[in-house]
Amino acid sequence: MPIVPITIYGDKILRKTTKPVDAVDDEVIRDIQNMFETMRYANGIGLAANQVNLDKSIFVIDISPVEGYENIKPVVMINPEIVEESEERIIMEEGCLSLPNLRADVERSEIIKVRYLDTDEEIQEIEAGDLFARVILHEYDHLIGKMIPDRVEPGMKKRLQKELIKIMKRDVDIDYPITQRN
Ligand code: ZN
Repeated sequence: MPIVPITIYGDKILRKTTKPVDAVDDEVIRDIQNMFETMRYANGIGLAANQVNLDKSIFVIDISPVEGYENIKPVVMINPEIVEESEERIIMEEGCLSLPNLRADVERSEIIKVRYLDTDEEIQEIEAGDLFARVILHEYDHLIGKMIPDRVEPGMKKRLQKELIKIMKRDVDIDYPITQRN
């Protein structure tokens, strides 16, 4: 299964809202397999389709490598919608494969409800909390063209600026394939 290059902050596809998937055909299944492979190779716990240059509303998540979440099964969400977000919000540090080596505190809802299509084209609706909710919201953000710097406090965004420029220039030390600068 091929490992595919990951798009990097500055790549335009990361700033666009992705297209809904009409049918879960063989091509989509292949894309999903590549996304899982690539995410695991890069030691990520979530990956959105536009992070592998695909204009499709899909993300994959596997938080089972994280201590305490071994029982959460890997999941793929197609055409996801956040249908509920708790008023209680919590701050957690986040990273992103498209923002290598950058970490930042992000405030998000603690509990959410998400509706999506599974690979059998069945509608699913689940409630998720803490880290699982966090990763879903982070990946959902990718599908609407949002990234960590859009979710931090204005002061923090300023502090990230230097690092963001380095990332855009590919001036980063990472061991997974990334797209060429464009
Ligand atoms: Zn990300």
